[in-house]
Amino acid sequence: MANIQAIRGTKDITPNEIHKWHSIEQILKKISENYGYREIRTPVFEKTEVFSRGVGAGTDIVNKEMYTFADRSGESLTLRPEQTAALVRAIIQNNLVAENPTARLYYIGAYYRYERPQKGRLREFHQYGAECISSPYPESDAETISLADSIIRELGIDEYSLKLNSLGNESSRKTYLEVLIEYLHKNINNLSEESQSRIGINPLRILDSKHTLDIEIVKNAPNILEYLDAESQQHFERVCKYLEAANIKYTITPTLVRGLDYYSHTVFEFQSNYLGSQDAFGGGGRYNKLFSELGAKDTPAVGFAMGIERILLILDVLQKQIDSSGNVQAVIIPTSNNYYEYALRIAAKLRNDFSISTIIDLQRRSLKSQMREAGKISAKYAIIIGDSEFESRSITIKYLNEDGRQIIINEDDLKQELF
Ligand code: AMP
Repeated sequence: MANIQAIRGTKDITPNEIHKWHSIEQILKKISENYGYREIRTPVFEKTEVFSRGVGAGTDIVNKEMYTFADRSGESLTLRPEQTAALVRAIIQNNLVAENPTARLYYIGAYYRYERPQKGRLREFHQYGAECISSPYPESDAETISLADSIIRELGIDEYSLKLNSLGNESSRKTYLEVLIEYLHKNINNLSEESQSRIGINPLRILDSKHTLDIEIVKNAPNILEYLDAESQQHFERVCKYLEAANIKYTITPTLVRGLDYYSHTVFEFQSNYLGSQDAFGGGGRYNKLFSELGAKDTPAVGFAMGIERILLILDVLQKQIDSSGNVQAVIIPTSNNYYEYALRIAAKLRNDFSISTIIDLQRRSLKSQMREAGKISAKYAIIIGDSEFESRSITIKYLNEDGRQIIINEDDLKQELF
């Protein structure tokens, strides 16, 4: 019988790789907290309408990519394809904004989309994201972008591009959409089939289509930035100014719209040349309408998400050395099967009294092969229990990562400073 395989587009994270995840997660947490953001965790599944209303009916996510199923009571549920809509649901339900006039939140978790798997594109993937809730002002757009930039730098990614655009407020976007739709209709026969069908559903998406036919047409399309009204323009200029003051380089990209329905004003995306065709490793924007879409009063907000697998791909290309030492510090090596009871007592002491991560060989192997193993996992100490140690209730500590020197001490004389 063939072995059962994991679901296509999903990956195990093995103990050999987990240290990279831990290092990245540590950086994400540290920098987020430096900016005053607090972690939030929500369930991995929600009622389907959270996403169908919150992400938007015209989006690829809702139309083609959601893992939606009926539970045993017949209720339609969906594995979260992204966090923002579910996070807004949680903020409304837990009254988090009332508690704190500006809620600064971050998250790390797994997300699910039925996409065609390829390099950097999975069906279960992981995102980190941050959201700044209830400020309508450009300062908060700049704050979230700065937070993302600080994270990227702390990760050691020194080359990336930040694409920036404004979709304007509702009224300026409405004006723009009218001229855009007119232009697209004029050129409908030269658009890709997919874009032809999108004109009536989500015309903005055509602007960042990767299809060569569409790219040609989009080149001469009306520029969204020329349709910003005074309020939208002012907001965008302020964001740009703040980024310049923070020394964050950006490229204004009028065709950047991002996939989701709920954005207004600022949208942005982080791209890396190290990723191949899936070159975006993060993105976000302002979403002032999402709260009302989910039944609460209008609340301005801005945020972004980054893909952790894509960050790992970039770090691999850059060959950034993430601390890869295993976490076992001490290996206890009894040289006879009769010494295990004593060895277990020493292990308990090291773990409980000194917080030293400790293992004991469970295969009853020879001293030589246990020593080899201790070296292989980069343990700092080999604790040898031979005949004389056993008889005199002592141990030999061999310092593996120093010069290999060793000392013999009595069990009762074990002290923190020995390690
Ligand atoms: P989005 O909001 O869809 O732009 O997603 C934000 C980030 O999540 C992207 O820039 C990617 O880094 C990551 N991401 C989105 N979808 C996937 C996927 N299917 N597989 C891996 N990473 C993804």
